[in-house]
Amino acid sequence: MKYINKSLFIENVKIEDIAKKFNTPIYCYSYKQLKENIINFKKNFKSFSPLICFAIKSNTNVNLIKEIRKFGLGADVVSMGELMVALKAGVNPKKIVFSGVGKTSSEISYAIDKNILLINAESKSEINEIERIAKSKNKIIDIGIRLNPNTDAKTLKQISTGKKENKFGVDEKTFFDLVNYSKLSKNINLKCLSVHIGSQILDYRPYEKMLKVLDKIIKKSNYKFKFIDLGGGMGISYEKNNKKLNYQKYNIAIKKFLKNHNSKIIFEPGRSIVGNTGSLLSKIIYIKENSKKNFIILDAAMNDLMRPALYGANHRTLPVIKTGQTSKKTYEFVGPICESTDKFTTLKKFQKLKEKDLIVMCDVGAYGVSLSSNYNVRPKPTEILIKGSKINVIKKRQKLEDLI
Ligand SMILES: *Cc1c(COP(=O)(O)O)cnc(C)c1O
Repeated sequence: MKYINKSLFIENVKIEDIAKKFNTPIYCYSYKQLKENIINFKKNFKSFSPLICFAIKSNTNVNLIKEIRKFGLGADVVSMGELMVALKAGVNPKKIVFSGVGKTSSEISYAIDKNILLINAESKSEINEIERIAKSKNKIIDIGIRLNPNTDAKTLKQISTGKKENKFGVDEKTFFDLVNYSKLSKNINLKCLSVHIGSQILDYRPYEKMLKVLDKIIKKSNYKFKFIDLGGGMGISYEKNNKKLNYQKYNIAIKKFLKNHNSKIIFEPGRSIVGNTGSLLSKIIYIKENSKKNFIILDAAMNDLMRPALYGANHRTLPVIKTGQTSKKTYEFVGPICESTDKFTTLKKFQKLKEKDLIVMCDVGAYGVSLSSNYNVRPKPTEILIKGSKINVIKKRQKLEDLI
């Protein structure tokens, strides 16, 4: 995104024109940014050419996933619906891994029928269920076991997953038991050790620690894993001068790990692939003045973008047309929904705004639309993909008739 003559552009498209043509609120993605992210991600780890499985839950748009798949990425799915989305987008089943703590029998059965690469199991009961279904289909199924490495990812507590108090994965002792159990099973083939310690991780040291735990546990288990799935979680800069994850250090730690373990590395990145590709364009409906601050009431709400309400996340907010005038009032950007958590951000010294002005919220490509809902019977917004001067509608705005 850049300003040209005080007007904000995504690639070669003037954002003001998007609002006129498609109405607001609307999610706008940049193809150029997507491509850059994927190429950089691959470049960071090119010495061991990992299998990169895009975490579908971060963005479930089939047309966007099609573009991601064209770069050779696979998919990490956490439900039958997501598996169907990945297959619909043309992702090769042999590049799909299925994660999640509560896969139902029908989900496991579907995954088995689709011949995906791995089902990453998270409990003894789940392994038994996979075994039972595989047996009934007379098949041998490749599985992974998700270990909870008890590593603090040093991220928001709501999105931390790798500590022993989190519901994800199994502890070390259970892990060894399950490895031994799998060795004797006729219907499952243990191929993978998987971990995923959390999301929006900006410090490489938790990853380094996690790899040390894996190294120790694999040696102790004396088992040869064909795959080591390190999950995703790589953080992005939501603030302008935010620190960045040091990929070089992470890469070095993995290469060191691989000296002792001859396995194929799998990654499951979501946010780092799509997070900064998307912006949410919104129009100001009303401005309500108050002695302390002004409420900027937008036509986008927490149902369109849940992250601020859910995690207290903050998204950079920009005016679409720059005027150069600064407001003396504090602005609180809110949506029209009947919840006090329906607010996006509070800003001082923002550009002076008036009703009908347009603003964008940045870096909403991950966990934006995928977390959106129809709360207050609000239709989900249009999604467009911008490629140079071209605009592709990759999802139409929902119609009220469809909701009622
Ligand atoms: C959510 C999730 C991911 C993706 O996390 P990001 O932070 O978006 O990279 C990967 N693997 C698993 C198992 C997940 O639950």
